[in-house]
Amino acid sequence: MSFDVDVLVTGAGACGLSAAIAAHDSGVSVAIVEKRDRPGGNSSLSTGSVPAANSRFQREAGLVDSPEKMLADLMGIAKETDDLALVQRMAEVSAETVEWLVDTVGAKIVLITAYKHIGHSIQRLHAPVSRRGQDLVNDFLAAIEKREIPLAVGNAVEDLIVENGVVLGAKVNAGEGVFEIRARKTILAVNGFAADPALVKQYCPEIAGARYFGAQGSHGEAVRWGLKIGAALANMGAYQGYAAVAYPHGSLLSWTTIEKGGLLVGADAKRFGDESLGYSGFARVVLEQGEYAFAVFDKKIFDVAAQEEEFMELVRYGGVKKADDIAALAAMFDLDGAELARQVEAFNRSARGETKDAFGRSNFGLGALEGPFYGCRVVPGLFHTQGGLRVDGNARVLRQDGTPIPGLFAGGGAAAGISGKAGALGYASGNGLLTAVALGRLAGLTAASEIARAAA
Ligand SMILES: Cc1cc2nc3c(=O)[nH]c(=O)nc-3n(C[C@H](O)[C@H](O)[C@H](O)COP(=O)(O)OP(=O)(O)OC[C@H]3O[C@@H](n4cnc5c(N)ncnc54)[C@H](O)[C@@H]3O)c2cc1C
Repeated sequence: MSFDVDVLVTGAGACGLSAAIAAHDSGVSVAIVEKRDRPGGNSSLSTGSVPAANSRFQREAGLVDSPEKMLADLMGIAKETDDLALVQRMAEVSAETVEWLVDTVGAKIVLITAYKHIGHSIQRLHAPVSRRGQDLVNDFLAAIEKREIPLAVGNAVEDLIVENGVVLGAKVNAGEGVFEIRARKTILAVNGFAADPALVKQYCPEIAGARYFGAQGSHGEAVRWGLKIGAALANMGAYQGYAAVAYPHGSLLSWTTIEKGGLLVGADAKRFGDESLGYSGFARVVLEQGEYAFAVFDKKIFDVAAQEEEFMELVRYGGVKKADDIAALAAMFDLDGAELARQVEAFNRSARGETKDAFGRSNFGLGALEGPFYGCRVVPGLFHTQGGLRVDGNARVLRQDGTPIPGLFAGGGAAAGISGKAGALGYASGNGLLTAVALGRLAGLTAASEIARAAA
């Protein structure tokens, strides 16, 4: 049988680029096809943060961490998962993955020591200093270029080539008809299905209707192709949401504004839930209460958020409004001023410890709100889905009976995630990129070693 390439990587985000580099460095030929006209996908939009337990960067910073501790953290918020072994595997390989990113890929990422992040009991995230995923993607692209790995943009995979149950490459549409690329191994790195409303409705109904806030490539092809050939799916109800996307600006209102003691009200000027559920978990609650919500915070919170570049950009574009008192702020958003004043007063009483919060919130950040006040109209957003093809510890796609589908690998958003079985509360910061880079790398390494074994 003749092949065009040893390993075909579909999708050029963090997962596909990791897979391609790992396979190439193991001595096999690799090609990457990317549907959109530029590589990067959701990885470009992310903050580029990858968690690792017991990385040498943590040790250098005097931090004592372990995969066991990370597993306990991840499962502490995920509670239930279809695949505990995968969560364990990701925790175990996290340190070598981040060190590989730095040492082999040349990624300019550093351990973030200034703060821990959602779901982590210790400083564990490694990210570009800029916190821009595009910088991480640029480092990947430089590594791809240095290795002269072919990367074809504007080449959408339309389907897999499958013969006698073995995956042998893919059918690709470059805009002038469909052609076949035959490969010994095919790696699905096409992300999840958050940009496909029908699949979101089917698998994550609680967040269906929220605006999708990721890159446009995530249409769920991996799920569709996988189902056709008997692949198993796992954790399909899990996703990451964002409770406060500034409307109509479309950029994120920093969650610092809420975490540090801000609140959210609906169009009736009333609060509707415990905002300390977090930006992902609270997205569903915002969606359920109505079309828009309004964030309210004050000057001391503004000053903290002002240290974040993206927040100040939103301020410059007029997404955040300022008023000396609550009545004036309410008028700016067409809200009932008397009701908003009542809500803020009740919130402040709880923040001062005088009464219990009606929704059970116990952390009020910097304390009771006082003028001048700031406000922002927001809608909930969906970032990415966290369920997908069930894979083994080396990213091989599995059938319902647990046996691997020959020739097929998946990672990142195309594969089952580590953020719990369903909902948004199980997403710990960095879960998306960890499964992208770690499973991508493992897919590349395993594909190359299977090819070498077959040739021996
Ligand atoms: C705003 C935002 C912030 C985030 N911040 C973080 C963070 O800090 N840390 C973290 O861990 N996660 C974060 N995430 C999630 C993270 O970005 C994703 O989980 C991760 O990037 C997924 O990587 P991937 O390689 O699987 O997918 P992607 O990076 O999306 O790459 C998939 C690629 O496949 C291409 N593709 C799709 N279909 C096809 C096809 N049929 N043929 C060919 N190519 C195709 C796509 O166009 C895309 O380029 C964030 C997400 C968003 C939206």
